[in-house]
Amino acid sequence: MILSLMDVAKQKGDTEKQNSYWNTYYCQSNIISAEGKLYGKYCKNRFCTLCCSIRKAEIINKYLSIIKEWQEPYFVTLTVKSCKANRLKVMIVKLLQGFSIIKEKQKKDVKEIKELS
Ligand SMILES: [Zn+2]
Repeated sequence: MILSLMDVAKQKGDTEKQNSYWNTYYCQSNIISAEGKLYGKYCKNRFCTLCCSIRKAEIINKYLSIIKEWQEPYFVTLTVKSCKANRLKVMIVKLLQGFSIIKEKQKKDVKEIKELS
């Protein structure tokens, strides 16, 4: 994927993005061993799957003590295209409605699974 993005950046002449994509392409490709430990360089780009997984783990650990108190935790991400400021209120209402539908479906699915077992 990153090589395809590199091609697009080259076509557009965007050298800043090309550098970012190269950093991601080589993310953790050189591992150095010193004093019994391994060291490498992370690119820290948002589109790097490795760096994103590390960032996600850090965020989960940050909230883990709170999440552990929940009875049935689920991780849900809702994404939409950005909208104009005058449509923001409507968009938030629609997202909350969507989240309610997801929650109700989840409750129904869990109930059906419990009834089957
Ligand atoms: Zn990376």
